[in-house]
Amino acid sequence: DGSLAEVDPEVHAAVAAELTRQRRTLEMIASENFAPLAVMQAQGSVLTNKYAEGYPGRRYYGGCEHVDVVEQLAIDRLKALFGAEYANVQPHSGAQANAAVMAALLQPGDAILGLALAHGGHLTHGMHLNFSGRLYDVAAYHVREDDHRVDMAEVERLAHSHRPKLIIAGWSAYPRQQDFAEFRRIADAVGAYLMVDMAHFAGLVAAGLHPSPVPHAHVVTSTTHKTLGGPRGGVILATADLAKKFNSSVFPGQQGGPLEHVIAAKAVAFKLAAEPEFRDRQERTLAGARVLAERLLAEDGLGVISGGTDVHLVLVDLRASELDGKQGEDRLHRVGITVNRNAVPFDPRPPMVSSGLRIGTAALAARGFGVAEFRAVADVIALALRPEVTDVELDALADRVSTLADRFPLYPELQA
Ligand code: PLP
Repeated sequence: DGSLAEVDPEVHAAVAAELTRQRRTLEMIASENFAPLAVMQAQGSVLTNKYAEGYPGRRYYGGCEHVDVVEQLAIDRLKALFGAEYANVQPHSGAQANAAVMAALLQPGDAILGLALAHGGHLTHGMHLNFSGRLYDVAAYHVREDDHRVDMAEVERLAHSHRPKLIIAGWSAYPRQQDFAEFRRIADAVGAYLMVDMAHFAGLVAAGLHPSPVPHAHVVTSTTHKTLGGPRGGVILATADLAKKFNSSVFPGQQGGPLEHVIAAKAVAFKLAAEPEFRDRQERTLAGARVLAERLLAEDGLGVISGGTDVHLVLVDLRASELDGKQGEDRLHRVGITVNRNAVPFDPRPPMVSSGLRIGTAALAARGFGVAEFRAVADVIALALRPEVTDVELDALADRVSTLADRFPLYPELQA
């Protein structure tokens, strides 16, 4: 026995280096965030030792009295946070939550309809290599070429021609809100279930800054680690009539023992998400994304997909730039800003290169950034993406990034 540093110096060193990386760089991957220390403490707790197959009060193992408390807290807080009748907090990830929902509602070969991956959808919404694309008969809807908004006329058309049993709204790379009521109207017209995957924007919904899908969808899935700011994991929300179907689909359908240490961390995150400080953070997230979109739109050669943003991310359009997505990602990495390249709708470049950058503001808002700091970051990004920028100029931008990062200490309680 002994500390991590003693037992495994190699893993310890890599973890310490990662803490330093997170502190020194500006994290703008739209799906990432910084879990609060209390969340990480719960996740790093003795609950990792406990088997608890089943659900609170109905377990297949003894000694579950304390994990029952934890899991019930997580369920009750999640239901209250989103006003849902039913919640399942056991899915190990967002992908597992979606798999469980589909397994509960569909038979292999059934038709589904989701947003195309290349237009902002997620792998689990029907991508051909994913379980969703392999098990089900997929049709995909798209965004319109002129304004990059989801083409609801196409959704309606495909719903009637493809006859999906499940329609999926939600996205991984789409900078606007979707019309959940309209999705539900279309689903009802063809007798389909509507699932909304709010993984990306759940934190905005929890803060009341984004329309909630809960009143419209039969089922809502989410991750807990994106804008919601909790541990890595998934959840399912639904109406009470679907509770049995989803509970048995998660366990024993898809998973064995729940990760009670992660569920404890989810419970802590849901508590924090109900507090005023969380709303303030989500407001800064949204304001930061708007500031970023405006600054990048003002830059020659750069575009912003859909002309702006309603959410925590901006999709930079490099189709008119000499730089492709890979080069743009590398440029920003060079100055200490972490983002991911991303296909833009109607992208002429191949996916490994792509013509877009997905840039999110949730992690920096968690770090304390407000509008003034987001203005400064937006300026650095715009300048770094100028094709003609020199190495000396990039060094100066990297200094600006370091200064900003140093002003907002990350996890001061932790030792690197
Ligand atoms: N759903 C959406 C919309 C996502 O963006 C993601 C994450 O990228 C997931 C599901 C999958 O979550 P996880 O990575 O936890 O499996």
